[in-house]
Amino acid sequence: MRKLIDLAAPGVRGLTPYLPGKPIEELERELGVSNIIKLASNENPLGPSPRVLAAIQAVLPELWLYPDGNGFILKAKLSELLGVRPEQITLGSGSSDLLDFAVRAFVTPADEVMFSEHAFAIYSIVTRTAGATARIVPARHWGNDLTAMAQAISERTKLIFIANPNNPTGTWLPGVELEAFLRDLPDHVMVLLDEAYFDYAAHPAMGAVGYPNGIEWVERFPQLIVARTFSKSYGIAGLRVGYGVSHPEVADLLNRVRPPFNVNTLGLVAAASALEDSDHLARTLELNSTGMAQLTKGFGEMGLEFIPSVGNFVSVDVGRPAAPVYDALLREGVIVRPVANYGMPNHLRITVGLPEENQRCLEAMARVLAL
Ligand SMILES: *Cc1c(COP(=O)(O)O)cnc(C)c1O
Repeated sequence: MRKLIDLAAPGVRGLTPYLPGKPIEELERELGVSNIIKLASNENPLGPSPRVLAAIQAVLPELWLYPDGNGFILKAKLSELLGVRPEQITLGSGSSDLLDFAVRAFVTPADEVMFSEHAFAIYSIVTRTAGATARIVPARHWGNDLTAMAQAISERTKLIFIANPNNPTGTWLPGVELEAFLRDLPDHVMVLLDEAYFDYAAHPAMGAVGYPNGIEWVERFPQLIVARTFSKSYGIAGLRVGYGVSHPEVADLLNRVRPPFNVNTLGLVAAASALEDSDHLARTLELNSTGMAQLTKGFGEMGLEFIPSVGNFVSVDVGRPAAPVYDALLREGVIVRPVANYGMPNHLRITVGLPEENQRCLEAMARVLAL
């Protein structure tokens, strides 16, 4: 009998599945711990806006119908908010969809896809699934090294993934550097600029002076796709909505590989109403900047180094292999994210939670590390 793995596409054989943050219910089942907090997947600790919950309730009777495959209402709202035309928008089931569409629309097995060391795990998965070659460029100060990336571009380079800020490191690139990179880009290369944490990084309290809004560049740089998501700042990760903004011709190509009805009715309605609650977003960003200060102050007091982050998460160096620390924190009912698979075996990535959750996390860390 032939081994089934030999039947798999070559790129798929070598894949390791994406490792999500441990769900609360799973930890409850496994360890019988209760009162668990999850600071593992960069979700919004405030949850969705009450408006979103009401909008979802109202649309429940319509669930027997297919969703609007073109997402007319959501695109119209986004278009107004972002100052782009609806034809420039591609909707995704989470912005992870957009990462995949970019590869499927532009990359063949003969091509290379470039991204940084310590980059988001999905870049590697979508690249290898397509049978393309991943060109991983060493990081500089934990972040994207644009100079090294520009130098590493070859005839075969078709797509470059850049997350700004980067996950799991939280590092960011100033507008002047990114703009120069885009300006000098050879015309056979596409760039997907992943702005999953845009709202957090752009908040003045995070202090990222010169942090750019990539959407302002899509007119000038037709090779650019900017991806954003409703999973993080808008607090609806469970509904899976994201989008890409690009030149309309690029959006047309992305939409050709997009499965029909990839965004469901609840997601469409939730995202559109989330955009209407700017107060909820403001509270989210405020909570994040104070929570980030609380966590990093706590790390400092424990003598732990961390990578300064402008996202809603921070990677802290626990000064020893992090896997046993992660396990011990689980037994304390605190779920964080190990990042050894990102080449960071001594770090844990911690999502900024509510003040009491941050406090509990810091106390549990102090106990576990016996500091
Ligand atoms: C969370 C995240 C995304 C998108 O997640 P979705 O839930 O699929 O929208 C994209 N890129 C990065 C770097 C992320 O951290």
